[in-house]
Amino acid sequence: MNEIKVNTVIIGAGISGLSAAHFLSKKSNDFLILESKNQVGGIIQTVIKNDFICENGPNTVLLNNEAIVEILKDCGLWDSINYPQESSNKNRFVLNNNQLINIPTTFLKFVKSPILSIKGKLRILKELFVKQHRENTNVSEFITKRFGKEFHDNLIVPFVSGIYAGDTSKMSVKHTLKILWNLEQTHGSVIKGLFKMKKKNIQSFNLPNGISQLTFKIAEKLNKHLKCNFEVEQIIKKNGFYEIIGNKEVITCNNVIVTVPAYVLKNIFSKDYLFKALDKVIYSAVDVFHFGFEKKNIENLKQGFGVLTKPSDKKSFLGILFNSRIFNHVSPNDKELFTVLIGGERQKELCKLSKIELRNKVLAELEDIIQHNGNLIFENHYKWEKGIPQYNMNQENLIMAINKFESNHSNLKILGNYFNGVSVSDCIMKSKQYIDRCF
Ligand SMILES: Cc1cc2nc3c(=O)[nH]c(=O)nc-3n(C[C@H](O)[C@H](O)[C@H](O)COP(=O)(O)OP(=O)(O)OC[C@H]3O[C@@H](n4cnc5c(N)ncnc54)[C@H](O)[C@@H]3O)c2cc1C
Repeated sequence: MNEIKVNTVIIGAGISGLSAAHFLSKKSNDFLILESKNQVGGIIQTVIKNDFICENGPNTVLLNNEAIVEILKDCGLWDSINYPQESSNKNRFVLNNNQLINIPTTFLKFVKSPILSIKGKLRILKELFVKQHRENTNVSEFITKRFGKEFHDNLIVPFVSGIYAGDTSKMSVKHTLKILWNLEQTHGSVIKGLFKMKKKNIQSFNLPNGISQLTFKIAEKLNKHLKCNFEVEQIIKKNGFYEIIGNKEVITCNNVIVTVPAYVLKNIFSKDYLFKALDKVIYSAVDVFHFGFEKKNIENLKQGFGVLTKPSDKKSFLGILFNSRIFNHVSPNDKELFTVLIGGERQKELCKLSKIELRNKVLAELEDIIQHNGNLIFENHYKWEKGIPQYNMNQENLIMAINKFESNHSNLKILGNYFNGVSVSDCIMKSKQYIDRCF
């Protein structure tokens, strides 16, 4: 066996591991990043084919913290980020009788919107008088109790599907709808809290060559610290050091930062309570289809971000992103690109269909919505067998198990997207916070 010694090992070169490495590189030169695949990025996967820029993973990243801004500036990408078109920020749709209707963004638009019945709209006012929860509950119970069933079914279910592809009856409100939970806990009512909350305009972005441009840039800068095709099998604490074992090699280090998914991590350590907690993390399968068309063959040119569905729409997809209406750079000017997302906890059965069967179903539904008559000119597909981690009711126990494990293992940190924030910007922020605190 080869033996290498280094101060810090970072396991996993997704955005959590790469951003940890990036912030660490400002303080130290003595670290290694180990990645099992032959390329970096993890879930961030841009595919550039036939002049279309497709994202198998994240399509837009929020600019909602300083860490994401810092990393973009450090990588020289800040001045080249692409913001969504104004029209896509304003128009986010849900389906109503197979029609695209806007999710209202102002009180007046909400009053006029067909998104809820009059009864459903009036029910919302009752929220001011609903008792505050004493303990955490699931999203469905929380929203239905506070705002009524119609609000839950018509607005929250599509929204939660769009981010987590999740089942609201299983998801922890404290961990998935953190802002609403905190408003209720602080002000006794979400509505009262919203009135007192300072409004922030949070932007999102993509990059000229897709989101992978960020992960590739970080990797390029840290190239000499990166070891791909290294699958970590075990981590052992010995004589005050950590031994990282894999690929018939042992790497000895003082500090270790582990950013692999929960279903990998549970087999790397042999601690019973940690295994049990990690084993309960469910990852939803997601199928991602990209379709490209000639613009001239599309009749419905409604500009917007995309459309989300609810179960009663009886569609075979969770949502469609109108990529070329969000960002100009993702397709040639005379063509249009759409991403269709299927699966999650709601559509588990659909993900078991053959690729071609599923493709035909969703393509027909997409063409119906955008009124396309002509030939499909481009397509791409990616299947995430284990896509999005669900923040279910076991989150509290999971976080406790991780904290206990870390306090029994000094200089070991567990980071990743399956707790304390799933988005790319959350992952970057968590990495920065840890490096700033401990190095
Ligand atoms: C379909 C989809 C759409 C999404 N859309 C958005 C979006 O629009 N906006 C947004 O902000 N977020 C989005 N997300 C979420 C976000 O992309 C992820 O949460 C984030 O990229 C996770 O990064 P990570 O580094 O924590 O994990 P990962 O990307 O999973 O990285 C973990 C890395 O560890 C490596 N690894 C695994 N096992 C080992 C081992 N034994 N040894 C060494 N290395 C190992 C893996 O190969 C991988 O590179 C989306 C996710 C999915 C699936």
